[in-house]
Amino acid sequence: MKNNTADVIVIGAGIIGAATGYYLAKKKLKVYVLEKEFPCFGSTGRCIGGIRQQYTHPLSINVMKESVKIFSSLNKEFGKDIEWFPGGYLFLAHSEEQKNTYLSTIQIQHKFNLPVRFISADECNNIVNGINTEGLLGGAYCPTDGQANPFAVTYGYLQRIKELNGKVFTNSNVSKIKTSGNKAKSVITNCGEYFAPVVINATGSWAKHVSKMVGLDVPIEPERHESLVTEACERLFDPMLVDYRSDGCYFIQNYGTGHFIGCYTPVPNNPGYDRRASSEFITEMPRRMSRLVPRLKELKVIRQWAGSYEMTPDGNPIVDKTPVEGFYISAGMCGHGFMFGPALGKYMSELVTTGKTSLPLDDFALNRSFGKAEAMK
Ligand SMILES: Cc1cc2nc3c(=O)[nH]c(=O)nc-3n(C[C@H](O)[C@H](O)[C@H](O)COP(=O)(O)OP(=O)(O)OC[C@H]3O[C@@H](n4cnc5c(N)ncnc54)[C@H](O)[C@@H]3O)c2cc1C
Repeated sequence: MKNNTADVIVIGAGIIGAATGYYLAKKKLKVYVLEKEFPCFGSTGRCIGGIRQQYTHPLSINVMKESVKIFSSLNKEFGKDIEWFPGGYLFLAHSEEQKNTYLSTIQIQHKFNLPVRFISADECNNIVNGINTEGLLGGAYCPTDGQANPFAVTYGYLQRIKELNGKVFTNSNVSKIKTSGNKAKSVITNCGEYFAPVVINATGSWAKHVSKMVGLDVPIEPERHESLVTEACERLFDPMLVDYRSDGCYFIQNYGTGHFIGCYTPVPNNPGYDRRASSEFITEMPRRMSRLVPRLKELKVIRQWAGSYEMTPDGNPIVDKTPVEGFYISAGMCGHGFMFGPALGKYMSELVTTGKTSLPLDDFALNRSFGKAEAMK
């Protein structure tokens, strides 16, 4: 096989491209990963590392159960620490309406044997010592959710691709995808042409542009989300705290370092690729965090940044083959791509090599109606 020819070309070296490339390389395929900048340049390098199974969509729950299984095995698989820590997720309820929503989502989650419970405000305080219980009615708590380090996981997968005879090309911008008789044939980059019968679009919020290269219109749009990290401190509590009020936020104490890292979802949302940090966020976010846990007021913020969620109309990813033979899409993760990455990488490797997946991914199909929205977005 020539140096510019592979079995599979994966476009994009974020978590999705890295995980997908690895599971394909493990199946003895020669994998080239082409990245226009460097690994984790996109959303993956801007994410806060949260991993949860608390969804309402059956497929998302099943995907996340598999991902959690994989995350817990990656230290062994990579021979290095990915900082996986099952510290749980605690979704807080400050209204009867929110509480009732969680009570009904828990019923769905129990059908999938997730150990989620609705716990009282006192129990919340046992788990998150010093949480502000004023107006708090309790929370939905899943102790097997957790966190990991997005850089360690992505670089871990890329390293294993290289060890399995694959290559990772950085600063290689794909500008054209060539087809022959409706079959993927090669991709053109600023560094030359690379050939493969299979091309996977794992370009996150850029997936719409890359799909256009083969004439496909894919409904994935970027949306700006901001984040910050505080100085480190001794361990205060384990779970990701999620406050779904319109002026709420979500944050977690990083297991490896002790920093607190978090975001909020802006209302209204901010469509587009703007990755500038804002003064509004740096003013609001510390206020929202310390409203939930007052002693966080003592911590200083050390950095803020912004990145893109890759939104589809129903809040679920697109993971599918396409009408162009050999051209696949795994993108549009809607802000959950880090946690979905390991399982979706595995399932995409099955789709490419056998034409089907061990977990049916119909609800993530390219031609679905996009009518069933995820309630726990
Ligand atoms: C602030 C913030 C917090 C988040 N927190 C979480 C969280 O806690 N948990 C979670 O699961 N998710 C979280 N996310 C979402 C998560 O980061 C993304 O869903 C995930 O990283 C998407 O991965 P990806 O590989 O699809 O895309 P990306 O990481 O964006 O990777 C796509 C890659 O494709 C490359 N590329 C694009 N076009 C081309 C081209 N033409 N040629 C070559 N390369 C190209 C890009 O440079 C990029 O590196 C968060 C996101 C943000 C912004």
